[in-house]
Amino acid sequence: MNDPLFSVADQVVLVSGGSRGIGRGIAEGFASRGARVIITGRDAGTLEAAARELSGSRYAVTTLVCDVTNSAEIQPLVENVLQTHGRIDTLINVAGINRRQPAEEVTEADWDAILDTNLKGAFLLSQAVGRYMLRIGRGSQINIASLNNYAPLKHVAPYAASKAGLGHLTRALALEWGPRGVRVNAIAPGFILTDLTRQLWAQPHMQSWGQNITPLRRLGNPQDMVGAAIFLASEAASFLTGQIITVDGGVSAGIPWPIEQTS
Ligand code: NAP
Repeated sequence: MNDPLFSVADQVVLVSGGSRGIGRGIAEGFASRGARVIITGRDAGTLEAAARELSGSRYAVTTLVCDVTNSAEIQPLVENVLQTHGRIDTLINVAGINRRQPAEEVTEADWDAILDTNLKGAFLLSQAVGRYMLRIGRGSQINIASLNNYAPLKHVAPYAASKAGLGHLTRALALEWGPRGVRVNAIAPGFILTDLTRQLWAQPHMQSWGQNITPLRRLGNPQDMVGAAIFLASEAASFLTGQIITVDGGVSAGIPWPIEQTS
């Protein structure tokens, strides 16, 4: 299909946290549809390996190291992309971490690491790219939120707070920047198998709970996020801003209580 309404061909797309997991899946989704994709992360080796595997001879994927918790690295990243590619059409804020533990065991360092990456880092990158997009009067930003925007999960209090913040940040930026041509939306993935979660979902009790609570009866994979991301970056979403699209196999549709067993 070559429908211009949903096309991202020739877009310049910056993906923070594009070296692994959801970011890498989304990067491949855009690159395979003709976008020029720049993936970032903290580790040059992981980025290079991802770019090699994704690029082949067909896809345009390049890499830049940037730790979003280091504010000094953010503006140079944006300037580098603008110098090399001339513009940024879409920013996708994917970089994120989690540490699962009871709230009473969370240290200040845990809190700072999670909030600095998932919320402050996303804001600083949004702002740096946003200043450019506001100057030219167009652009799209997509934040990767979480089911924790809908309801907090147990034992991830700082992460849940960071993602709730990211949801509100999405709406706040949409409110401010919409009149000046810049759209800001988010995708809230459900339970997705990546490095961040693989060990957790390897446990049999978690696997069966995950499947039971998901109406579509499986955990997600990074490729499941591609459709929503392409849609949000394309002309098809030109009247859509400040929204969080939940891509979770139906987990947040309702509460699947075990009524068959009791009625
Ligand atoms: P992942 O496989 O661990 O990938 C995380 C990515 O972020 C990697 O590319 C990592 O690269 C990068 N990253 C981490 N810290 C960074 C930093 N300070 N600066 C720049 N890049 C950094 O995790 P994932 O599951 O794909 O998660 C990606 C995003 O989706 C996160 O925001 C996460 O909260 C969100 N999410 C995930 C799930 C899920 O079930 N997996 C569900 C909802 C939301 P380096 O480590 O090399 O820097």
